[in-house]
Amino acid sequence: MNTEAQIQSLRNELREHNYNYYVLDNPTIDDFEFDMKLKQLQELEAEHPEFYDSNSPTLRIGGQITKNFKTVVHEHRMYSLDNSYSKEDLLDWEKRIEKNIDGAVEFVCELKYDGASMSLTYENGSLVRAVTRGDGTQGDDVTANVKTIKSVPLQLKGSYPAKFDIRGEIVLPYDGFHKMNEERLAAGEELYRNPRNTASGSLKLQNSSEVAKRPLECLLYNMKGRNLGFSTQFESLEKARQMGFKVPDASKLARSVDEVLEFVEYWDVHRHKLPYETDGVVIKVNSLQQQEELGYTAKAPRWAMAYKFKAEQVSTRLNEITYQVGRTGAITPVANLEPVELAGTTVKRASLHNADQIKKLDIREGDEVYVEKGGEIIPKIIAVDLTKRPSYSEPTQYITHCPECHTKLVRQEGDAKHYCLNYNGCNPQIIGRIQHFISRKAMDIEGLGGETVALLVNEKLISNYSDLYTLTKEQVLPLERMAEKSAENLINGIEASKQIPFERVLFALGIRYVGETVAKKLAKHYKSIDAIINANQQDLVSVDEIGDRIADSVIEFFSSEANRTFINKLRSFGLQLALSAEKLANQTDKLKGLSIVVSGVFETVSRTELKKIIEDNGGKVSSSISSKTAYLVAGDKMGPSKRSKAESLEIPILTEIEFLTKIK
Ligand code: AMP
Ligand code: ZN
Repeated sequence: MNTEAQIQSLRNELREHNYNYYVLDNPTIDDFEFDMKLKQLQELEAEHPEFYDSNSPTLRIGGQITKNFKTVVHEHRMYSLDNSYSKEDLLDWEKRIEKNIDGAVEFVCELKYDGASMSLTYENGSLVRAVTRGDGTQGDDVTANVKTIKSVPLQLKGSYPAKFDIRGEIVLPYDGFHKMNEERLAAGEELYRNPRNTASGSLKLQNSSEVAKRPLECLLYNMKGRNLGFSTQFESLEKARQMGFKVPDASKLARSVDEVLEFVEYWDVHRHKLPYETDGVVIKVNSLQQQEELGYTAKAPRWAMAYKFKAEQVSTRLNEITYQVGRTGAITPVANLEPVELAGTTVKRASLHNADQIKKLDIREGDEVYVEKGGEIIPKIIAVDLTKRPSYSEPTQYITHCPECHTKLVRQEGDAKHYCLNYNGCNPQIIGRIQHFISRKAMDIEGLGGETVALLVNEKLISNYSDLYTLTKEQVLPLERMAEKSAENLINGIEASKQIPFERVLFALGIRYVGETVAKKLAKHYKSIDAIINANQQDLVSVDEIGDRIADSVIEFFSSEANRTFINKLRSFGLQLALSAEKLANQTDKLKGLSIVVSGVFETVSRTELKKIIEDNGGKVSSSISSKTAYLVAGDKMGPSKRSKAESLEIPILTEIEFLTKIK
């Protein structure tokens, strides 16, 4: 085979695997094989730039930087939808349609996906452009970013019209959303509020390789163009599926409003099992010819109607607004509510986010408020019932000083939140930072829990994490609930943590934006804390995946005299502030990009060692099996459900020996 043919064949193969994986959810090769082929293609493309293809599967990993997104006028305007909330609304709509159309009308019911709307243009089977809705007439060209979304076909399958637009919604499934937030939590960053905003925010990131890391999906629902080869909406969905688009199965033909309502009622309950957010149903006239006869109002098609699910909502009394100080000093106002049942749980508190939010909704103590549970993690207050506002009510005065240490709060430009900057003198910050330091993914100090940390700080036995290493058994014994044995365990746990490897110590320090992954990157690159302390902004941003924000934060952290003192103390106590020689010798890229699950009991190595070996070789240890798992390393006494899941997904199962030989 000549090189060009080889490149083409690899591209076709990878496209097919992408489709199987991301559209059909049914991979037919393992990740390792896929990565090998992708790597091979990357190398061939690098050697042969003459065979460049702007839709090659290698472009999925991103890398393009867009500073300003180009404005593009939509060839077909992107309309909004009219909303309905009741059977009566739908019957009225049906009557209006029947007045204008002779003969029977059939409807298609689809779910209304809650994300960011998107218009994709295809020419001769290739994706040429992806544009946001914008104001409906023109939007932003976000092609480079959309190309990284694996369920968007770059090249269509089978037969397709020469040129058309297809509309869809970019969504962020809950799973991916929660994972992103876990990482932010670990890095001490403000959490993303909901999947929808995060999805639309992702499309406007400047670096497309950042977008590639987000597990976005694109769900399609509407094709626009000439001679498309179908005459109904329902057929068009099937046609789109055949071309390789991800079109959810939940769509149904209905002949009456009653049948529409059956669909609504079913999905109002079952939508909670879907992996992504939906906020209603869209009902469309099925016949394209009838659609054309009905046409559009200034804002929306007359042939379609959204039916909004009722958000789960209750009203209750807001007893008090209190303020929490996080470990980074960020202040979060909290609504303390009269307990109330909502979507199956009792709600007592709701986040008020920040001062602007309180002001915008004019939320006051004593108000009757509406609480809603959407895709958010904690319920939110959406409005005040002004008819029930007590006569003595006064507008909320946001606090000006830290509720804990009384330092004047500051709100910096660009920040939504107020901060207490008394970094080393504000108890919740000190406690939060030490709690982070000892947490499982950081120093993992056995025998020491979050509550004990609070006690130790409040008793003034420690005031920063380096003080932990000076604690004696005699000092901790008098603490509440401490006994001889537990005091011993605590001291031993602290002692043992001196062996925790450098990258985890770096994560444990609690540098803002330096989560587990970033800590590993920095450790691997710089190899010692001194090298990081000596790095300047320019050095730092040259490290893979380290941007300005992280670099600034690292520099700020180490420029603090106090922090440097803590670090010197940690050094004098013998903590690992550099990669060990052994570690340096053992690091490879053999498992780069692979996600590996470890389960059961092992003979020649411990579980922890096994995990370390995986990470040292560039792999990622994951706790649950999914279609993305490259291998399952199975020890003795592995749970049968894990095995059968791996088998059903055809994930290679290796013994420890097989695995260790493989990476030797
Ligand atoms: P709205 O933004 O409330 O006017 O609703 C219109 C938006 O709903 C459209 O712009 C689409 O982005 C979105 N949408 C979600 N699912 C569908 C669907 N199945 N059919 C049509 N539009 C949909
Ligand atoms: Zn404070």
